[in-house]
Amino acid sequence: MEPSVVIRPAISGSAAVPHGAADGSHTIADRLRAIRARMDQAAIQASRDPAEVTLVAVSKFHPQTSVRAAMDAGQHVFGENRVQEAAAKFPPLRADNPDLRLHLIGGLQTNKARDAVRLADMIESLDRPALADALDRAAQAEGRLPDLLVEVNTGDEPQKFGVPREQADALIRACRQRFGEKLRGLMCIPPAHDDPHLHFRLLRAMAHTHGLSVLSMGMSADFEQAIAEGATLVRVGSAIFGPRPAPESALTP
Ligand SMILES: *Cc1c(COP(=O)(O)O)cnc(C)c1O
Repeated sequence: MEPSVVIRPAISGSAAVPHGAADGSHTIADRLRAIRARMDQAAIQASRDPAEVTLVAVSKFHPQTSVRAAMDAGQHVFGENRVQEAAAKFPPLRADNPDLRLHLIGGLQTNKARDAVRLADMIESLDRPALADALDRAAQAEGRLPDLLVEVNTGDEPQKFGVPREQADALIRACRQRFGEKLRGLMCIPPAHDDPHLHFRLLRAMAHTHGLSVLSMGMSADFEQAIAEGATLVRVGSAIFGPRPAPESALTP
């Protein structure tokens, strides 16, 4: 399908303000249903099995009530950017839902590695040798190791997280040796103004070279293109939860 003919609901501005229950829970359930339908459609159009693609609902900056609304609507996999925010939000939710899976998707400081390893089911943002060292030490200390993805800065943008393209092969190889099967795949965030297809294809080719099966790519604006290019995880935030409130509101009650 031509990406240009995909009809997308508005996901920003006033059109994205929840119209459902006062707490937005109806809206979240409706939007989740709509996103899942679009994901299935994109997979079918790409002759893929819709079951190969998992939705990671990115709940960063949104309150626990929003996560609960999504959980009630059958969503189990969530993405958070900040370890501190995830640590405040998720342990009580996990107590109520043993199926819950938390992916950490934001740039990770080495001094947060231990908390990250304790909290996460998957860390999608492994992007440098020093972080691999820190995660390895944390895993020894905690006696558990989450699944890992290497984040590749496919656009080589200086301000972005992710390993630069020319260092990616070496980091992937080193992580493979060190973490074995726990290194599951690759993640990328294409530059805002590029055609995302080129970046998705690049990531898929790298994963193929290294025999990795998980590809985390695609967000609210481009998850259908990502599915067309082989995504197995799509990270969708604002199209489910609405525009993000200021970061502080999720951190300070
Ligand atoms: C915030 C975020 C997303 C979700 O972005 P939306 O455009 O709101 O869907 C996905 N991936 C990462 C790494 C993010 O930080």
